[in-house]
Amino acid sequence: MPDHLFGRSTKGALPVAVRGEGCYLIDAAGKRYFDGSGGAAVSCLGHSDAGVRAALHDQLDRLAFAHTGFFTSEPAEALADRLIAHAPPGIDRVYLVSGGSEAVEAALKLARQYFMEIGQPQRHRVIARRQSYHGNTLGALAAGGNAWRRAQFAPLLVETSHIAPCYEYRDRAPGETVEAYGLRVADELEAEINRLGPETVMAFIAEPVVGATAGAVPAVPGYFRRIREICDQHGILLILDEVMCGMGRTGHLFACEEDGVAPDLITIAKGLGAGYQPIGALLTSGRIYDAVAAGSGFFQHGHTYMGHPMVAAAANAVLEAIVARGLLARVREQGARLQAALEAELGQHPHIGDIRGRGLFRGVELVADRETKAPFDPALKLHARVKALAFEAGLICYPMGGTIDGQRGDHILLAPPFIIEDAQIDELVSKLSGAIRGALA
Ligand code: PMP
Repeated sequence: MPDHLFGRSTKGALPVAVRGEGCYLIDAAGKRYFDGSGGAAVSCLGHSDAGVRAALHDQLDRLAFAHTGFFTSEPAEALADRLIAHAPPGIDRVYLVSGGSEAVEAALKLARQYFMEIGQPQRHRVIARRQSYHGNTLGALAAGGNAWRRAQFAPLLVETSHIAPCYEYRDRAPGETVEAYGLRVADELEAEINRLGPETVMAFIAEPVVGATAGAVPAVPGYFRRIREICDQHGILLILDEVMCGMGRTGHLFACEEDGVAPDLITIAKGLGAGYQPIGALLTSGRIYDAVAAGSGFFQHGHTYMGHPMVAAAANAVLEAIVARGLLARVREQGARLQAALEAELGQHPHIGDIRGRGLFRGVELVADRETKAPFDPALKLHARVKALAFEAGLICYPMGGTIDGQRGDHILLAPPFIIEDAQIDELVSKLSGAIRGALA
C-alpha cells in the first residue's frame, strides 16, 4: 500500500511519536528524545502541561466551534485582552489566525489595505532582510530572504527587496563600536528606501532575533531604534515578525521590548499555541485598524478557523502559565545558564565560531576556521550530520545550513521548553557536544 500522507511525516523514514512528557517526546519503540528545540521553538511549556490540558477539556465540554461570521467567543475575547495587556505601547488590536505564515500574510495585507484606505495606493513595496524567514504562503515567502526558497515560485506576489541583516559576529568591522555598527547597518534601510522611492514603500519587516535561517541572531543595541526612526521619517510601517522569537522565548513576552521599539504590526504564533493548538496572531495599533475601519469598514481578509474557541482556550492557558508562573524570569535565568554551559563545553572548540542568543533562544555557529570565520563546504551538509547524530542520541535540536547567505554556513538553533531544569541543560549540552564532535570526526 502506498503512503497516503506526504510531507515531512513520511512513514518509514521517521519514528512515530506517541507520547509527550514534559521536555521529552517518546516514540513507538519507547525511545525518549529531549526536546532541545521545542520542535521549532514551539513547545515552550513542554508536552503535557496540566493547565493547558485542563483548559482544553473544559472548553471542549462547553463549545468547540462557532464561526466568526456569526459569533465571537469568550476565549477569543479573553485572549485578545490578555495579549494587549502585555503588548508594546500603542498596540491595541488583535487579529487571530492559525499559524505564523497566516499572521505574516495578514500583516502584509493589512498594511496594503491601510495605504489604500488613506489614499496612498502607490505604497506596495516591502523591504526585508536577506537573513530571514517569514513563512511559506506566497506573500510571506516573498518577504523571506532566502533565495533558494523563493526561486521555485518566482515571480512572487509581493515586490520585496532585501537588505543586510544585523549580524554582528560576521559583519562588525574591526575597531568599529557596536553602536556605530548598528547605525551603519540600519542605514542600509534608508539607502534602499531612497533607491526604491519612499512614496512606493509600504513596510519594512524583520525578526527582532533571527531564528531558523541564522540561529538566534539578535540585533545590537540601537539598531531597531534607528530602524524605527527611518520608518517614521518615510511614513513606512514597521512589521516585527515574532513568530519564533516572541511569546517569552527571549525572556520578554515580546522580544522587541528589549530592543526598545514598538512596531506598527507584530506577528506571533509558535509559542502562543505551545504545540497544543495551531494559532497565530497579528497585533496592530488603533491608528492602523481605525483607518481601515473608517474606509471599507473592515479588514478584507479572513479564514474559517480564525479565533477558534478551542485554540484560543489553549492559548489563554499558555499565556496564563507564562505570566502567572513567572516563566519569563525563569527563561532569562535558564537562558543564561544554557549560554554558560554551551560556552564551557564548546567555547574553545576550534570549529565553534559563535554562541549567541537571548533567553532560551540560542544559536551555535560552526566554522571551518575560527580565525577567518570561513564556513565549512556546504556539500558536507554538516548541519544535517549534527541533526542526525543528535537525534540518534535522543536529542531534538534544530540545525540548519545557509546561515551566512542562504548557501554557506551551518548553525544549530536551540529553543528548549521554559521548564527546562539544570540537569536537563547539562543533558542537552552534553548530547549536542557529542553530536557536533561526532559530525566533525
Ligand atoms: N515567521 C517566522 C519568523 C518563522 O520562524 C516562521 C516559522 N518557522 C514563520 C513565520 C511561519 O510560521 P508557520 O510555519 O507557522 O506558518
